[in-house]
Amino acid sequence: MSKSPAKAPASFAHYRPETRLVHSGTLRSEFGETAEALYLTQGFVYATAEECEARFKGEDPGFIYSRFSNPTTAMFERRMIELEGAEACRSAATGMAAVTTAILAPLRAGDHVVAAKALFGSCRYVVEDLLPRYGIESTLIDGLDLDQWQKAVRPNTKSFFLESPTNPTLDVLDIPAIAEIAHAHGARLIVDNVFATPIWQSPLALGADVVVYSATKHIDGQGRCLGGVILSSEAFIAEHIHNFMRQTGPSISPFNAWVLLKGLETLAVRVRAQTETAGKVADFLAAHPKVSRLIYPGREDHPQAATVRKQMRAGSTLVGFEVKGGKAGAFRTLNGLRLARISNNLGDAKTLVTHPATTTHQRLSPEARAELGISEGFIRFSAGLEHPDDLIADLDAALAAA
Ligand SMILES: *Cc1c(COP(=O)(O)O)cnc(C)c1O
Repeated sequence: MSKSPAKAPASFAHYRPETRLVHSGTLRSEFGETAEALYLTQGFVYATAEECEARFKGEDPGFIYSRFSNPTTAMFERRMIELEGAEACRSAATGMAAVTTAILAPLRAGDHVVAAKALFGSCRYVVEDLLPRYGIESTLIDGLDLDQWQKAVRPNTKSFFLESPTNPTLDVLDIPAIAEIAHAHGARLIVDNVFATPIWQSPLALGADVVVYSATKHIDGQGRCLGGVILSSEAFIAEHIHNFMRQTGPSISPFNAWVLLKGLETLAVRVRAQTETAGKVADFLAAHPKVSRLIYPGREDHPQAATVRKQMRAGSTLVGFEVKGGKAGAFRTLNGLRLARISNNLGDAKTLVTHPATTTHQRLSPEARAELGISEGFIRFSAGLEHPDDLIADLDAALAAA
């Protein structure tokens, strides 16, 4: 074999997640660097024509071209594999590139997809608008109602798609039960696990077949770059994803993969601190007279608290709440905040607040929003790494003025 730097990394899969997040996948170069190297290269050179031929035949495991393989990207993917307990991973330029690839690549015209209608706006666009343009039918249902999953299945149903907790109303869908319905009909379940994070929920262990992430959110968690991840079995990636990504090129930049790889080192620490803060904020908001509704998966009054206990290790870094006074009340609250910033993003070290009705879910009709529980007064709160007492004081002042 050649002297390529593609030597397989040692496995850290038997260690606990915190340890895997720091060590898994590291490929050290001949210089023995401490931090993972950033291989900003488009391609690779070969010692001989024979080596080049072997690489293309797949007989030599080295790298060929950064559209589909790069040492920095490979380190990021290996770390994600060992974190998630998957067999294989491919990373993509954005979360949407990962979601679109995971949904579209295995399908052909005539196939059918069932999805929960409470989806991140762009995911809903892919299922509802994009797929039908290529002859792939889709049905959107209330994901909390197991009967609706069952009844939506057709002979040509190939995939189920859901996110849990949902964006932005933080419903928690029963992943094992939905996986069972999918498998009984020969379909696969794809889960967008962004809101739960790999720290609090492991969909593959719960019966899902494919997990997707927007790594833009908690995995970077510091507002720097976009990225996406698809995790599944070796067979699914080889059969459906590898060639699609290799030939169509929704690839991640090695630079972004390096940022995300370093983001993973602190993921567990950040998510734990942000979740603890979200819990304190939720308790404060639940008792506030200007708050008419509070949703937090870590509280006993969450509508699916039993499902949370069954499939999640803790609540969430996100809190949903409705202020009295509709859109005007929500806008006065947002405009009164000094620390928490108005944004459409989430999972950041900085606390971010979103008004879904006029931003992420603006595309939907008022009826569709009402159906999802996204009222005019609804606010999504993404807890950052600030001191929880400072955030609570910020909310207290904003609500007092609202
Ligand atoms: C942000 C997000 C996406 C899309 O990710 P990008 O990296 O912005 O493309 C998909 N699903 C969920 C649940 C998200 O929050």
